[in-house]
Amino acid sequence: MKLHRLLPLLPFLGALSAQAHPGHSLGEHGAAHVITSPYHLAILAGVGAALWIGGRFAQKQLSRRVIQGTGIAAVLLAALIAGSRF
Ligand SMILES: [Zn+2]
Repeated sequence: MKLHRLLPLLPFLGALSAQAHPGHSLGEHGAAHVITSPYHLAILAGVGAALWIGGRFAQKQLSRRVIQGTGIAAVLLAALIAGSRF
């Protein structure tokens, strides 16, 4: 499967990011809010999981590894931040 076939996933990822800050703009509470809010960390982990799963459909091994590595990094980052904050 070619990478362009993952394009239908973009609205899903866009919807996730659109829900990342419900009720307030990105800069309203400062950058620290993004990493201190459990809700936003859950969104980060969810996007990472989506990338990891979606990366399985990339045909080229390098693309698959980059997408899945980014997803795993996002999940690990969310877990590390959550582990240090809560
Ligand atoms: Zn927020």
